[in-house]
Amino acid sequence: MTQRLYNFGAGPAALPLPVLQEIQRDLVVHPELGASVLEISHRSKWFEGVLSSAEYSLRTLLQIPADYHVLFLQGGASLQFAMIPLNFLRRDGPRADYVVTGSWGEKALAEAQKLARARAAWSGKEDGKEASYTRTPSPHEPEYAPGAAYVHYTSNETIQGVEFFEPPAAGSLPLVCDASSDFLSRPMDVARHALIYAGAQKNAGPAGVTIVIVRGDVLETVPEGLPAMLDLRLLAREHSHYNTPPVFAVYVVGLVARWLLETAGGLKKIEQANRAKSQLIYDVLDASGGFYRGHAEAASRSRMNITFRLPTEELEKTFVSEARSKGMIELNGHRSVGGIRASLYNAVPLEAAQALAEFMTEFASKHAARAS
Ligand code: PMP
Repeated sequence: MTQRLYNFGAGPAALPLPVLQEIQRDLVVHPELGASVLEISHRSKWFEGVLSSAEYSLRTLLQIPADYHVLFLQGGASLQFAMIPLNFLRRDGPRADYVVTGSWGEKALAEAQKLARARAAWSGKEDGKEASYTRTPSPHEPEYAPGAAYVHYTSNETIQGVEFFEPPAAGSLPLVCDASSDFLSRPMDVARHALIYAGAQKNAGPAGVTIVIVRGDVLETVPEGLPAMLDLRLLAREHSHYNTPPVFAVYVVGLVARWLLETAGGLKKIEQANRAKSQLIYDVLDASGGFYRGHAEAASRSRMNITFRLPTEELEKTFVSEARSKGMIELNGHRSVGGIRASLYNAVPLEAAQALAEFMTEFASKHAARAS
């Protein structure tokens, strides 16, 4: 087999090797099916089992209360940016408040504003610059409207590398969370949220499926007459089976969730591992005497996406290409902000973070004198 490189991509991203091996085995002939997992009906008993066991593993991992639905949908987290206001806002009704800590929250808000009334209760953007989002707000900073329909936040901003470790303190207002890039990286208090959504392609599986966890009572307010594929109440009633679900992607999410439960030891364990991996890299940043400049403020810096700059763009290019030659790929920052981004999702092993930390230390000592 060609060697697998250390993959620091932001998504689609590294998947656990045992999961890939199981997929490989089942791809041509699944032992129980006598056919490929790609060839089986979404109405089959097998797929019913896949769906319910994926749901069971997610419920166990996140301790999802019984009155929440777990849905497997399509359209990416980006479709949720529109579906959430469609399902929970009225054109002339109470507005929604968004806590905007990066580019994805900004996109979510812009979609909501096309459909109803929504505004930023707080934004970390300064002078219109995408690169300025450096922190989450302190609890008293956002200004929530007392009757807001919901408060939306992005638990981890993948582009800027800014993460909430506690949900915003929005009192009794319903909380909605885009958890796409730190979903399943640590325990999460589902019961504090009305709805949580996450594209799978970072920690939970391949691209093509979006997980939505929604409390039953909030679905009661969904307006009549929405197009079926945009109607969360209908999709919940049909158990993610209104039309053909993304069978393969759900199957992989099920394998990843089982790997998390049985091999990785659950979310507390994986959180410790993620903390250790990110600490290795942040320690190098902090000890580099300013050669590496971390983007986020210390209390908000993400354990999933570590974003930083080097003294010049030219050095950043050299960094990415030298890392590549040492077997470390996908280290460039998002095209909108540049710089370097190392994503350390669940399936990125400790050895990968160690190799990156070593490389960074060497790189800095080689280039620091020249750069200053
Ligand atoms: N929210 C966050 C936090 C993301 O990281 C992403 C994708 N990188 C999205 C939303 C958009 O997801 P999708 O491409 O699945 O629509």
